[in-house]
Amino acid sequence: MVELCMQIINFKNLKIEKVCNLKIQEVNMNYIRIDDFDMLNGEGIGVVLWVAGCNHNCEECHNPETWDQNAGQLFTDKSKQEIFQYLNKDYIHRITFTGGDPLFPNNRDTLTKLAKEIKEIFPDKKIWCYTGYLYEQVKDLPIMNYIDVLIDGPYVKKLRDVSLHWVGSSNQKVIKLYDQRSSEDHC
Ligand code: SF4
Repeated sequence: MVELCMQIINFKNLKIEKVCNLKIQEVNMNYIRIDDFDMLNGEGIGVVLWVAGCNHNCEECHNPETWDQNAGQLFTDKSKQEIFQYLNKDYIHRITFTGGDPLFPNNRDTLTKLAKEIKEIFPDKKIWCYTGYLYEQVKDLPIMNYIDVLIDGPYVKKLRDVSLHWVGSSNQKVIKLYDQRSSEDHC
């Protein structure tokens, strides 16, 4: 009987441990790297945060190594401080979230908090965000209150167009949310 009880307790502990691990995986975000000087992924000179996790499976995606949400390393307070240190430079105009998909469900919570904090500390720096979702699918997410420019939609190989700025295929849109916000302010 004692042995049976011990087995039940061990089983319960195992379950609790599993649930805790799952919870940790749900709320934590991994990232691939941080670039401190970028001229390709948005207007002007910026910082780029390349996050892990994407479920759009675009054909001929340039970064398939970022699809796995466990790729790269855990985004920690130290990673955040590194970003703030880069953003503190006068010549840095923006930060761009890309990946992977910054709006992959696992990444939303961490990036919403990060975007909010960036706007509080660096109100003049723009936040750009790439996503494989359409604007209509994500427009009501809390993070949209802080994003200035959203580049939406999956990469579609047959619509590839290298003449376009900041997008890979012509279905993707560069949506200036700060224009929308300022016109709402004037209503
Ligand atoms: S959304 Fe971006 S990262 Fe994800 S599969 Fe498509 S091109 Fe690759």
